[in-house]
Amino acid sequence: MVLSALLMTLLAHHLFNLSALYRWLQNQRLGNVPVGTGAWEYVFSHIRRMLKRHEQNEVRLNEALSRFQQAGAALPDAVVILGEGDRIEWCNPKAEEYFGLENKRDRGQQITYILRQPQFVAHLAAGQVGESLVLRVSRERDEIVLSVQLVPFGDRQKLLLGRDITRWERLETTRRDFVANVSHELRTPLTVVGGFLETLGDMKEPDPEMTQRSIMLMAQQTSRMVRLVEDLLTLSRLESTQNPLREEDVNIPELVKALHQDAIALSAGRHKLRVSVESNDWLKGNTEELRSAFGNLISNAVRYTPDKGEVEIRWENRDGHPVFAVRDTGIGIEPQHIDRLTERFYRVDRSRSRETGGTGLGLAIVKHVLNRHQARLDVQSSLGSGSTFAVIFPETRRLPPKAAALTPVQEPAISR
Ligand code: ADP
Repeated sequence: MVLSALLMTLLAHHLFNLSALYRWLQNQRLGNVPVGTGAWEYVFSHIRRMLKRHEQNEVRLNEALSRFQQAGAALPDAVVILGEGDRIEWCNPKAEEYFGLENKRDRGQQITYILRQPQFVAHLAAGQVGESLVLRVSRERDEIVLSVQLVPFGDRQKLLLGRDITRWERLETTRRDFVANVSHELRTPLTVVGGFLETLGDMKEPDPEMTQRSIMLMAQQTSRMVRLVEDLLTLSRLESTQNPLREEDVNIPELVKALHQDAIALSAGRHKLRVSVESNDWLKGNTEELRSAFGNLISNAVRYTPDKGEVEIRWENRDGHPVFAVRDTGIGIEPQHIDRLTERFYRVDRSRSRETGGTGLGLAIVKHVLNRHQARLDVQSSLGSGSTFAVIFPETRRLPPKAAALTPVQEPAISR
């Protein structure tokens, strides 16, 4: 009797705890694990510990996952994880941007369904891992150039990496064009000099008149090469990051007057030259660089203005902005050329530039000097009636005139 009462109590105890366990199984949360009684107390506390560990692991995994996603988003390159059958498993935002993917939408999709360029499909099929491929993809407005690479990892998985090399490719093209241009510019004068030297060397009895003429022409070609090399050196100095702008207080009115004298010498009476210094302001900048930029503009005005034309040099103030301008009544420029004038070796009329001793680098030098002074170049021109090149400085570069000290003016800035 007592035994059966005891058994009943034990059964009731287990049933009670079992039903608590059953209820908890319906809603498994750490907070509501039953306390339990007797041996069940031990079982429930074990469950509670397991759950706690599980929850902590989950938090840690979530943190790791979100760190991974953050790192993926911060990567400057595109990354796509390709699984079996080259299906997309995951991609970062740069991959969405470069390849036109969408992480959620395209998961499970074969990469070749989206990246269909035949070179890429062949590259992938050939399993050319490690080697990079250059792909051109069109984005909304322009085209970008990507360097794409496949890296195998894990079990039959691959990383597809993409790097934007558009800027690098452009620089590379500019560099190649530049070397080709310089070589081309040097080849003509060198051929001329070489030809004369050969003729002179072959002459049994030198003809003094012919010799004299050859020497004169060789000297002309040599000074053309010297000018070119000097302009190239100036450009490279201006472009060098190791050569920051050395600022000083520049007496522009004085500089303009000196440049006017140089222009008189260059024009040699062929043009009507005027100078108009309407402002006494000085400028915060570099004297030599400004002399070179202004000198180039004046030299161009003289060189591209036929005899009897006019050239006017101005220093003035426009709404607080210091402005240096050169106006000429020369040949003028058609509008489609204006934006390209400051490119290296860009010439509207190649032969006229050469005849007048141009290197095609003058305005490129001007552009660099102006950039270093945060100034801009405004070109107004009409074909056949002349041009105005104005340099507009920021107000912050304006300095009130100083009393005595004059900026020393050395060699003429205009040498051609
Ligand atoms: P260049 O040594 O050939 O003069 P620049 O870089 O100084 O080279 O000028 C580039 C081109 O811009 C010139 O070849 C010329 O065609 C044009 N140009 C520059 N200044 C003038 C101007 N004042 N009038 C007409 N054309 C000009």
